[in-house]
Amino acid sequence: MPHTAESAWRECLAIIRNHIAPQGFATWFTKLEPVVLEEESGNIKLIIRVPAPFHYEYLEGQYSGLIRSALTQVLGEQSLLYYEVVVTQSTEQDQQSYHVQASTKTSINPKPKVTNTNDSKKKSPLIESYTFDKFIVGDCNNLAYSASQAIADCPGGTAYNPFLIYGGVGLGKTHLMQAIGNHVRDYHPEKKVLYVSSERFTTDFVKAIQEKQISKFSSAYRKIDLLIIDDVQFFGGKEKTQEEFFCIFNDLQQNGNQIVLSADRPPKEISGIEERLLSRFCWGLQADLQPPDLETRTAILLRKSEEFGLNLPSPVVDYIAHNITKNVRELEGALVRLLAQATYTQQDINEELVRIALKDFVQRPHATLSIDRVQKLVCEFFGIDQHRLHEKTKKREIVQVRQLAMYLCRELDYTHKAIGLQFGGRDHSTVVHAIKSVNNLIETDANYQNRVEEIRRKVHLSSD
Ligand code: ADP
Ligand code: MG
Repeated sequence: MPHTAESAWRECLAIIRNHIAPQGFATWFTKLEPVVLEEESGNIKLIIRVPAPFHYEYLEGQYSGLIRSALTQVLGEQSLLYYEVVVTQSTEQDQQSYHVQASTKTSINPKPKVTNTNDSKKKSPLIESYTFDKFIVGDCNNLAYSASQAIADCPGGTAYNPFLIYGGVGLGKTHLMQAIGNHVRDYHPEKKVLYVSSERFTTDFVKAIQEKQISKFSSAYRKIDLLIIDDVQFFGGKEKTQEEFFCIFNDLQQNGNQIVLSADRPPKEISGIEERLLSRFCWGLQADLQPPDLETRTAILLRKSEEFGLNLPSPVVDYIAHNITKNVRELEGALVRLLAQATYTQQDINEELVRIALKDFVQRPHATLSIDRVQKLVCEFFGIDQHRLHEKTKKREIVQVRQLAMYLCRELDYTHKAIGLQFGGRDHSTVVHAIKSVNNLIETDANYQNRVEEIRRKVHLSSD
């Protein structure tokens, strides 16, 4: 039976749902609407309506592979996906809060992005938005940034060849390398630029062997003026690939062509890579990226929120910058989550909302307090005797205190089972239910939420 837009999308969703966390599915997929399914020059085209530009960006950034694969399974190789992005016309701002308005106009994205299911086999292209001017510079990334700029101005003409950027996940390695690539494409159009991940290099190489196309493979690489290879740690243990890469590397370098590499750790810590290759990685310049400091995190947040057309109140920026510290990717994720929550619940972005929206992101201190101590603190706060928490009473005021104490213990990472046991030998499902009830109350009752905040502060400041 031929598909309708609805039935095709429903099947895609069923596939997608199996591959991602329920929270991610709820946030990013339940708001999409199938618009039309039609044939276009032999292809089947599905149009999906996306509620906001950032929603589209996020989907493409995080889930494009998954969406493509679902679409291929449901509609076949010849399928195309178009997004129709709902454009918000006006936004209201004031000093303290920000309100994202309901959409007022729907328009086809002026340059509709096409996701072609056949496309995935092509070389990874440069991402246009990864440019130098979008990269925030701080003490944590200064050297890597300046060297990248010098190389982009004069590829192959500096002493930084090869140039190796290393650092943990989400710190901007790919962004910086692609910024070099984009700059060279724009300002030195005669130069051939190739950005490729080490995995891609490896699969292409293996394919070339199978298809007996090795000489074609290696001569193609030797024509590149700027070769960017991301995440070289994945060459570890792949001897044949390393050998091939070693030869390409030598030829390019001798001819003064620029090589830019990235790794998730310093070269000497990469395992499974031949010594002679590792030592070549270190011939030019190595620059590391450190986790962003508070100042840089704040600058990044301000810039990214501006890009989303938002003017975040400073307590909100402070809260995020103080609590999300690991890397820039996480910072972006937090911002997007906050935006999604504000948009779909039609709420102002203020400190309360940010706490709720980011509760999964914010790292809580691990169990340093005993369950007994949490019980004491909570009972002191509400002025009840601790032993009442263990009673089998259904009195509302006791039940509420007990549920809150359970909730706070859970935040300290105690298991449902351990908590249940210490609250009068209750079952773990009682604890699950308690946490759900507290979450519901927090989300619907601002007074209650304030009280939870107050007692949470006491718990976190306290010790056994
Ligand atoms: P890595 O390759 O090191 O894992 P990415 O380059 O993919 O990290 O960066 C993760 C995200 O964070 C990207 O969206 C990138 O644009 C952003 N990002 C990282 N560092 C910065 C920075 N200094 N300024 C602005 N955005 C950044
Ligand atoms: Mg990367």
